[in-house]
Amino acid sequence: MTAQIIDGKAIAENLLNSIKTRIQVRLDAGKRTPGLAVILVGEDPASAIYVRNKRLACDKVGVRSVAYNLPHTTTEPELLKLIDELNKDESINGILVQSPLPAQIKDEHIIERISPNKDVDGFHPYNIGRLAVRQPTLRSCTPFGVIKMLEYSGIELMGLDAVVVGVSNHVGRPMALELLLAGCTVTSCHRHTKDLAKAIGTADLVVAAAGKAGLVKGDWIKPGAIVVDIGINRLPDGKLAGDVEFDIAKTRAAWITPVPGGVGPMTVATLMENTLLALELSEV
Ligand code: NAD
Repeated sequence: MTAQIIDGKAIAENLLNSIKTRIQVRLDAGKRTPGLAVILVGEDPASAIYVRNKRLACDKVGVRSVAYNLPHTTTEPELLKLIDELNKDESINGILVQSPLPAQIKDEHIIERISPNKDVDGFHPYNIGRLAVRQPTLRSCTPFGVIKMLEYSGIELMGLDAVVVGVSNHVGRPMALELLLAGCTVTSCHRHTKDLAKAIGTADLVVAAAGKAGLVKGDWIKPGAIVVDIGINRLPDGKLAGDVEFDIAKTRAAWITPVPGGVGPMTVATLMENTLLALELSEV
């Protein structure tokens, strides 16, 4: 068997085009364009690339992006003050703070200060809670992007046995909640899981989000399974790789996402979707 490759780049492009059209229709009707504040603290090179991609996506679809490039010495009170101002600013519908943050700033303090209505990353406990009680509003971008990608590919999720590898607040946990919402029977695996190979070997759908290159062995994959690789790992030769042994896994899976060109572009597209949704919700 050779798996069908899920082309996240093409699916994301499609989604971006539809968002662009929706924003244009708003403008034609005399309505506002969404505004996104993109905050980068420090000079982490990977973060700078992610932020640049997000700003490019804003330009493409017609979201007005406002850049805040802050020095790595920024204090937590300084960042909280900026967030308070942006929470009040009616021209801003979404606030994105790129992680990781410098050690002197606590992630959770920042996430909880962002108004849940402007939490376009979908990280605020309020928004995670809404997803948990099956009333999602602003959904965490990467897991939401995975769901959109699978839907777009015509993959029916209801009733599947799904395994999510990774339980982080931003990725693994909301991913498990998304799959539960979609009707899967979900197993969450993490660094203390006793037998990862056994769990993966019975899964109809594997979502890997551990950040460990080659963690998921290709020959663990059940023949005909769907494999979604969220992991992004920089190899010693400078190339990017996911968490799954792609070359072997693709000979067993029915569907598989590549890295790069899989989940990554979907994350950016769902960020645009959330920013537009945040504006629409502010108008009702
Ligand atoms: P994290 O470090 O916060 O969490 C990693 C999770 O993996 C933890 O829950 C941990 O228990 C689990 N884990 C680690 N080693 C394991 C092992 N040996 N067996 C089983 N589980 C193990 O990372 P994160 O923020 O959740 O990100 C995960 C990966 O996803 C990273 O590679 C990150 O770069 C990538 N990522 C990609 C996108 C995208 O758009 N494609 C977005 C966000 C994160």
